[in-house]
Amino acid sequence: MQPLTNRSKLVVNKKMNFWERIYLPAILKGMWTTLKHFFRKKNTVNYPDEKRPFAPVWRGWHVLKRDEAGRERCTACGLCAVACPAEAITMTAAEREKGEEGLYREEKYAAVYEINMLRCIFCGLCEEACPKEAIFLTDRIVPSDYVRQNFIFGKNLLVEGVEPEKRIDVSMRQKHIQEPKWAVQQ
Ligand code: SF4
Ligand code: SF4
Repeated sequence: MQPLTNRSKLVVNKKMNFWERIYLPAILKGMWTTLKHFFRKKNTVNYPDEKRPFAPVWRGWHVLKRDEAGRERCTACGLCAVACPAEAITMTAAEREKGEEGLYREEKYAAVYEINMLRCIFCGLCEEACPKEAIFLTDRIVPSDYVRQNFIFGKNLLVEGVEPEKRIDVSMRQKHIQEPKWAVQQ
């Protein structure tokens, strides 16, 4: 039959010679290859003891930011949930009561705010959709777990602390997004 391409190869079932039959040279060749790799630089990283540096624009575990006065920025508008392609975000809105002005910046706030980290694809669209600069992705890795339920992160794991040392700094990542190194200089 005429081949359709010129890539066909004739296979010859030739008889093995003495050295091929005892397999020893082939075994020694294989061992030499293994031995060479002992002295090469290893590419594996012993995570979590060792951590490799991430790109400055790495998108990881989200944070819900507070304003300068320590009030939650999120107004439960739902735009992040609408923008999310993975439908990972859910929330329940509530009205701010009298006396809660120091807790929530807007008259409406998220009483419940949850992100399902197993659904999240860390695309960053929630961050882009937010009109209140309330949600950001950070360089933190979502920790592994054996229980699926533990991947539903509520406000306790998303809202940053009030104290200055508990604030999550997102400025460096934002700077890199806005002024990427690869941007064409005007
Ligand atoms: S990063 Fe993307 S997938 Fe994850 S919650 Fe935000 S919008 Fe949804
Ligand atoms: S995080 Fe932003 S977009 Fe999402 S509900 Fe809160 S204010 Fe709206």
